[in-house]
Amino acid sequence: MSVQTIYQELKAKLGDVVPEFELQYKAELAEEINRLKQEKKAIILGHNYMEPALFHSVPDFTGDSLELSRKAARTDREVIVFCGVEFMAETAKILSPDKTVLLPAEKAGCSLAESITAADVRRLKAQYPGVPVVTYVNTYAEVKAESDICCTSGNAAAVVESLKTDTVIFLPDEYLARNVARETGKHIIFPTVTPPNGHEAGLDYQLIGWPGRCEVHDKFSVADINNVRRQFPDVVILAHPECSPEVVAASDFAGSTSRMIRYVEEIAAPHYLLLTECAMGDNIAAANPDKEMLRLCSVRCPHMNQITLEETRDALKYNRYRIEVPEEIRRRAVQAVERMLAIG
Ligand code: SF4
Repeated sequence: MSVQTIYQELKAKLGDVVPEFELQYKAELAEEINRLKQEKKAIILGHNYMEPALFHSVPDFTGDSLELSRKAARTDREVIVFCGVEFMAETAKILSPDKTVLLPAEKAGCSLAESITAADVRRLKAQYPGVPVVTYVNTYAEVKAESDICCTSGNAAAVVESLKTDTVIFLPDEYLARNVARETGKHIIFPTVTPPNGHEAGLDYQLIGWPGRCEVHDKFSVADINNVRRQFPDVVILAHPECSPEVVAASDFAGSTSRMIRYVEEIAAPHYLLLTECAMGDNIAAANPDKEMLRLCSVRCPHMNQITLEETRDALKYNRYRIEVPEEIRRRAVQAVERMLAIG
């Protein structure tokens, strides 16, 4: 596709969001990336939180991290460039061990993934022997490898219920755990905040959590929601389950990024407010030009923000930054992912 065609397509979608001179420059970069992509037999995955010009130009697939990794595993391309953060690229490597997986920025991390280590999980397992460990996919491979089963924000409650046990260790997102506890009617404790002691044996806890948080979704508050509702009483508010349970309770709908996108496409509302990463709000607005999206957007993920078109071009040009997962960890991590996929 020529620079001019890419520019016209970006202008049609993002003309209201991105200045014209920037669109022209980004179209040139996108054209170079698409050429390199063909040369290197690569596939580009674009997470929903990518900046709009990247999201709407170079990815072969866009979506949630797990969905993207699964799609990439099914292609015959030899190289996967993951426009997302490190734990996502690791998941792609876990599912496609024979492919080269590249992350365009070396240090695109995640506050949730960094909140817990494999040693933390081993300590919890020693503290609660025999209790199954459910781990959110927003974790590094070494943490998945210590887990019995993974979950996403879309299937977390179903995964917990599928285990049919009285007690579950749920890691590492404190808010997602509290939201699952509310949804499943389970009582939750945080052993790092309340260390176990003699009395705890008699407590009716069923979910054992961990104080990890997404630094982006942690910023939304019930006061934000009340302010918007005062100005737009007919607004429909959608929250990501990484938001606090109070914010989720004050919203009209809570779901993963894919479910939020579907909700906006399928439900007719006078106004929508998305409580999630702001590039995703821009991307949904661009895909639904007939819908009125309100902005509450000062919250850009600093890790996702490191992935730019320039870095994506350089990833292809210089074959960087390669993601490796030791086979012994990958083998155990993939089991936790596959157990989740088996429950649907
Ligand atoms: S938005 Fe939150 S969960 Fe997602 S990568 Fe950024 S810090 Fe991690």
